[in-house]
Amino acid sequence: MRTIFEGMKPEALLHPTPAGLFCPIGRFHVDPVRPVERALITHGHSDHARAGHGKVLATRQTLDIMRIRYGEDFCGSEQAVEFGERVEVNGVTVCFHPAGHVLGSAQILIQKDGLRINVSGDYKRDTDPTCASFEPVACDVFITEATFGLPVFHHPDPKGEIGKLLTSLKQFPERSHMIGAYALGKAQRVIRLIRDCGYHEPIYIHGALARLCDYYREQGIELGDIRPATLEKKDPDAFKGAVVVGPPSAFQDRWARRFNEPLIAFASGWMMVRQRAKQGGVELPLVISDHCDWPELLETIKEVGPSEVWVTHGREEALVRWCELQGIPARPLHLVGYEDEGD
Ligand SMILES: [Zn+2]
Repeated sequence: MRTIFEGMKPEALLHPTPAGLFCPIGRFHVDPVRPVERALITHGHSDHARAGHGKVLATRQTLDIMRIRYGEDFCGSEQAVEFGERVEVNGVTVCFHPAGHVLGSAQILIQKDGLRINVSGDYKRDTDPTCASFEPVACDVFITEATFGLPVFHHPDPKGEIGKLLTSLKQFPERSHMIGAYALGKAQRVIRLIRDCGYHEPIYIHGALARLCDYYREQGIELGDIRPATLEKKDPDAFKGAVVVGPPSAFQDRWARRFNEPLIAFASGWMMVRQRAKQGGVELPLVISDHCDWPELLETIKEVGPSEVWVTHGREEALVRWCELQGIPARPLHLVGYEDEGD
């Protein structure tokens, strides 16, 4: 591998440890998977934002989301940072930029002595009215995920996917259309997409989504008429032909199957993989992802123009190989503990 950095080696500024990426000079971790003294958090998904850290630095929205999920005492002390604001942490400059993944999601740029490392966290390039759009940030080392890092992954237009749902509602007016969607980000984005496609009937939500949906609305994201999907109602026909959104865990405990002739849909980038839809008993797969697909990953790396790429998790090998073919040194970090929660 060629040497590109005249001063500090990037590994001296940030390197992987079992707890996650660690900056020894700033004495902080980024998205640590176990409790640490000081954590910088990219976004509120539970694999990136965990409870029990001493100090947490994150966007206001990410801190609020952590509080909603973990309670008031989710960390020792918190500090909110605005997008674009420069914060010094033990002599290291950090700056958060929008990642376009979920509400409050950020890339974290870490700078010291002219060396710039950008931890992009999870991100996507697709338009999403429920969060700020990804901003390309110039850097020396670009750290990227590769959840969908294989050339087979192309995500279709999400409005086209919602079109399939609306067609199904017309075809099967008696059936409750149950949509599995992750509680943070995906559920709100799906509801918003349904509204933007012209559906204005009430949408019913599982209790696990209530607080996060309320929070999105408080933050100015219109979700229209949403109501609790309370099954205790005496009338079994109450949800006939209705759209009901719940977290994937609720589908595992067969909650969705208690509804009237339920039609099971699932909104996820993984729905591109037929086998996954089949295994999950999904009748209507909706390919809607909060991650980059393969072309978006490549486009982003070209746009950012880093001297080096590190790949955190996902399908690392193909992306590393592609970078090398472009003459960009790249390496997989094999970080563990990051799941596909927000896909
Ligand atoms: Zn995520």
